[in-house]
Amino acid sequence: MKNLNADIAVIGGGASGFAAAITAARNGAGKVVIIERLPRTGKKLLATGNGRCNLSHTEITEKSYRTSYPYFSEVIVGFEGAESFFGGLGLLTYSDSQGRVYPYSNAATSVLDALRLEAERLGVEEICDYSVQSISAEKGGFLINNSLFAKAVILCTGGCASPSMGSDGSGFALAEKLGHKIIKPLPSLAPIKCNDSMVRALKGLRVNCKVSAYLGKKLLKSEVGEIQFSDNALSGICIFNLSPLAAEYGSDMSICVDFMPEYDYNSLLDLLFSIKKQRRECALEDMLTGIFQKRVGQSLMKGAVSLPLNSKSSSLKPEDIKRLAALIKCRRFSVDGLSAFTSAQVTHGGVFGEEIDEKLCSRLVNGIYFAGEIIDADGDCGGYNLHWAWASGCLAGKSAAEFIKSRRKA
Ligand SMILES: Cc1cc2nc3c(=O)[nH]c(=O)nc-3n(C[C@H](O)[C@H](O)[C@H](O)COP(=O)(O)OP(=O)(O)OC[C@H]3O[C@@H](n4cnc5c(N)ncnc54)[C@H](O)[C@@H]3O)c2cc1C
Repeated sequence: MKNLNADIAVIGGGASGFAAAITAARNGAGKVVIIERLPRTGKKLLATGNGRCNLSHTEITEKSYRTSYPYFSEVIVGFEGAESFFGGLGLLTYSDSQGRVYPYSNAATSVLDALRLEAERLGVEEICDYSVQSISAEKGGFLINNSLFAKAVILCTGGCASPSMGSDGSGFALAEKLGHKIIKPLPSLAPIKCNDSMVRALKGLRVNCKVSAYLGKKLLKSEVGEIQFSDNALSGICIFNLSPLAAEYGSDMSICVDFMPEYDYNSLLDLLFSIKKQRRECALEDMLTGIFQKRVGQSLMKGAVSLPLNSKSSSLKPEDIKRLAALIKCRRFSVDGLSAFTSAQVTHGGVFGEEIDEKLCSRLVNGIYFAGEIIDADGDCGGYNLHWAWASGCLAGKSAAEFIKSRRKA
């Protein structure tokens, strides 16, 4: 490793790192190296989208993100688009009915292979098993770990989410040492902790419903989809999309689960009265089995009615049915905080956006660039975070290449 010289060192061989290295090399940057702390690049990429890699979304707007970076929209709009970028790498993509974009092969390995092949073709060198601990400004460039010299550095180290996949927050320490402010990193797209008897009773089940986040009586956001009940936590894509709010409001927030969003309260009442009539002899614990999975029906009945569950359905009074309908429409769960970074998909927070210019160059240290999750920008579930990694990686790579070329001319 001693005395290696590069024009551009990309720190981090994840999504944004590959996009940055490929674009820098395509734009005549000269020698480009990717430095990766794990034995191989792209570990997290292989885990994305349950191994299918949901690499983008057909509708990308700023609304699906939270960021302090003032040029966020410009970067997204200026990007050629993930389908076009990957088309240029020979990777075919498709979008599902909800607009989520995947590789045609449905395999994240195809995405990583396409990136690796292009990086190899362009002569990008990979240095793996090498953790960057220090970056110091030297005459004409930067000294990395006191051994590798590069004229420009692109920090693509990700955040703190899923540290076993490489992003352990060390990039924030590097940025901080260079003088950058870090917005406190918090787990995002993570299960929401709810210490609740119903969550425990339904552990292991997946249920389609509508979930709404409330601050007191104020509705903050609603999502429709599948929730997963796990160990004292709610999980699933729709819950992940409420998790940035849970990070912000903590236990002041509550979640209302509507188990039958297709029915309004009155039509649900009619339905429950007719089921009661039809199943008069049935035990309460079985009355809702035609609608819900057995444990869900039992939990809702238990929550709404004080009668023993082996009582006959005919013993339900109209007030019981009304309470049951109300509970099915809104079972409220108190929030006990967010799960740890180990089970989060992304990081909320990161390098303060106001200190980064429109070309993703540091406003504090000329020649330092940022891309991907290290920047204070995080998106919803559905391909938005990888889209940001590609878009910002491509721009940072292009900008760093222009910087190198202007140095050559000078
Ligand atoms: C399980 C899971 C599933 C996901 N699924 C999706 C999905 O389907 N769609 C989507 O849009 N998003 C998804 N995400 C989020 C998405 O993967 C990230 O937002 C994206 O990978 C961020 O890219 P990045 O390049 O900024 O960082 P990363 O992909 O985290 O890459 C950073 C790289 O830098 C390396 N590194 C860190 N520090 C150092 C250092 N000091 N020296 C050298 N190397 C270093 C790391 O080892 C890592 O390889 C998922 C995340 C997880 C955890």
